[in-house]
Parts: sequence; C-alpha cells; structure tokens
Amino acid sequence: MQKANVESFSLDHTIVQAPYVRQAGIVHTPKGDVIAKYDLRFTQPNQEIMPTGAVHALEHFLAGFLREELDGVIDLSPMGCRTGFYLIKLGQSSEGEIARALIKALSRVLEADTVPARSPVQCGNYRDLSLFGAQEFAKAVQAKLEEKYLSASE
Ligand SMILES: [Zn+2]
Repeated sequence: MQKANVESFSLDHTIVQAPYVRQAGIVHTPKGDVIAKYDLRFTQPNQEIMPTGAVHALEHFLAGFLREELDGVIDLSPMGCRTGFYLIKLGQSSEGEIARALIKALSRVLEADTVPARSPVQCGNYRDLSLFGAQEFAKAVQAKLEEKYLSASE
C-alpha cells in the first residue's frame, strides 16, 4: 500500500507565524468541482495551546458564524493539537477573503453571551465549553489578524 501524504505533516511548524490563514489543499473532483482546505492557525505551535473548553466553544461558534460569512462551507473542525482549526469549503477563496470572514466571525464571538448548542442533546461534551476562554482567544486572534490582513490592503 502506498504511504499517504498528509499535508500538515510536511509543514514546518517551527517557522510559521501564528495567527494566520493558509490554504492547505485543493481537490478537483472528477466532475470538476473545487474543494479547498484552509489552516486557520490561532496560536503559535508548541508555544501556546488553547484549553479544550476554549477551542471547543470556538468550534461551536465558528461552525455557525463562518457558514454565515462564507458560501459553500463544508466543515470547520478543531486541530487535535489545539492550535487552530481546519476549514473545508466548496470553491477556492483567497486567504485574505477567508481571513476577513474569520475576523467578522470572531467579532460575533465577542458579542455573544452564550455558547450555541450547549446541551447534552446537541453536543458530545457540553460541560467542556468555555465562553470566557473562547472570547479571550477570539479577541487576541482577531486583533492580530486585522493587523496582518486588513492594514496592508486598506
Ligand atoms: Zn460540542
């Protein structure tokens, strides 16, 4: 069997500068559709890790907010290392477009007073959701993304 090539295993995590948005893969389907994957890195790998309550609450928020900001979102999932999220969507967008949508989504996290789907019916670990933690990371990441993606183009 051929060894699978996992894109993130060949990324040098020691040289990236978080937070950032990075296109991590493009798939062309046999019917001609484009599926794009993005690395939404929130914290610096091996230096700052989000607690599970924060990353889990951000997943709940961003699953909804990014779908409202962007067309064609297929999935938004936390990375197991808890330094960010993967976004998979139909159709390619520029990293700047994704960053702008993420900035808007994070503003909405800051305005929220409850975590969506915080119930044993809607979530597999509903007690481990931190609104405070999500907002702390949302605030820090949003400010740095604005510096990186908004000041250069405007
Ligand atoms: Zn959940």
